[in-house]
Amino acid sequence: MSKTEHTLDLMGNWTYAPAPEDSKHIKLNKKYDLFIGGKFVKPGKGKYFDTFSPSTEEKLAEVAEAEEKDVDLAVKAARNAYEKVWKKMPAKERAKYIFRIARMIQERSRELAVIESMDGGKPIRESRDIDVPLAANHFFYYAGWADKLEYAFPGRNPTSLGVAGQIIPWNFPLLMAAWKIAPALATGNTVVLKPAETTPLTALKLAEIIQESGLPDGVVNIITGFGKTGAAIVNHPDVNKVAFTGSTDVGKLIQKSIAGTDKKITLELGGKAANIVFEDAPIDQAVEGIVNGIFFNQGHVCCAGSRLFVQEGIANELIRKLKDRMETLIVGNPLDKNTDVGAINSKEQLDKINHYIKLGVNEGADLFQSSCAIPKKGYFCKPTLFLHASQSHRIVQEEIFGPVLAVQTFRTIEEVIEKANNIPYGLSAGVWTDKGSKIFNMTGKLRAGVVWANTYNKFDPTSPFGGYKESGFGREGGLHGLMPYLKF
Ligand code: ADP
Repeated sequence: MSKTEHTLDLMGNWTYAPAPEDSKHIKLNKKYDLFIGGKFVKPGKGKYFDTFSPSTEEKLAEVAEAEEKDVDLAVKAARNAYEKVWKKMPAKERAKYIFRIARMIQERSRELAVIESMDGGKPIRESRDIDVPLAANHFFYYAGWADKLEYAFPGRNPTSLGVAGQIIPWNFPLLMAAWKIAPALATGNTVVLKPAETTPLTALKLAEIIQESGLPDGVVNIITGFGKTGAAIVNHPDVNKVAFTGSTDVGKLIQKSIAGTDKKITLELGGKAANIVFEDAPIDQAVEGIVNGIFFNQGHVCCAGSRLFVQEGIANELIRKLKDRMETLIVGNPLDKNTDVGAINSKEQLDKINHYIKLGVNEGADLFQSSCAIPKKGYFCKPTLFLHASQSHRIVQEEIFGPVLAVQTFRTIEEVIEKANNIPYGLSAGVWTDKGSKIFNMTGKLRAGVVWANTYNKFDPTSPFGGYKESGFGREGGLHGLMPYLKF
């Protein structure tokens, strides 16, 4: 390895020469229309909005803004495809299309990963090694279930619901689209999906893939727009099922607006996960897990381990090691494979995170930030730690959705369980210990949909994911992920 690629700096840390992914091969249209009935069509009112790269602040493309009439066309296309084609098609034929989409995502994985990092700001390592492969795996996995529903639910004669309206956020744009579309198709439903306004591009690329795959027209419709477009999907009278991932506030609005209808609903909302490290834990592994849990994806994960609980006896050592590790994190160009922490998804989100950082200081917690440089252009935030945080602090109770970790110490299992559960959310948690019995004790008592043990942020299409309390309800992934799209 040459000297320019890999050197030691004055702090004794490795520094790397830039190793950016080439984005020249990426073909983006200037303008993207709505994908309705198997075709790209112009929005009725001819309105478009810009999507930007949060790391360079450059405009990437213009994207159509769907109004109520466009939503209506998309729902009609989905209904037509459901009644005339998809519902009647033998399940094993449906499976072939889903499988084909999975293969095509794999074939175009590099392009998808680069676009995901350009439009969303996440490091290419994350989009290349996690988002895109997992998206393909979700389609593979659910392709397998399509013709086996009666084995999945023996004796219960499951049938599809009709048209699913699906609304997704900006933190895992392609992966969330896969989480929503794959089980809906496998269970025989048709889809109208809206990606988030700041990250529409990979969903539109997926629309191109779906078009090329030969999936019958109208089975999947992908329309872009803001919250108003999302609300029009939710409130459309011919939508049978609403699947939403996003903020708890919008989730509550959606739930209210469908009250009194017979629409089925699943909500995957906010989180404020406790990552709990016991004295008998492997400390170095735990430090790596903590960093992975909150910093690697800029904290843009609803299940991010944003509250750290450390048992008192190891607190000093663990915090020292964590600070050292934070100093080695590389913040910057998402397209560089050495980057650990990419760009914050939007200016608005960065302002929100900075607001919470100020709040944490005002609340009396001790601030520590990596001393790394951050790029002048784009939206970036240094990995941030709040020591001596307390249970009543807003930085402990509220979801920040950024690389900000609030640290508390604890003495006993009872104490940490109570503190971990004493928040409005219940999406995920992490437990670090040498003792299997302690893990099982904790998993039974933590009110969280997912509990990772001696690891963090691991996903697999076969495992269900979802929350308790204000983190929502319904499960995505695994066998459980089929249920919200079926009636029995
Ligand atoms: P986040 O905090 O992740 O941006 P939001 O809940 O604001 O979460 O957004 C998640 C998704 O919900 C986006 O696609 C957004 O456009 C959509 N959305 C926002 N407001 C509404 C609404 N009132 N009804 C339906 N969808 C909405």
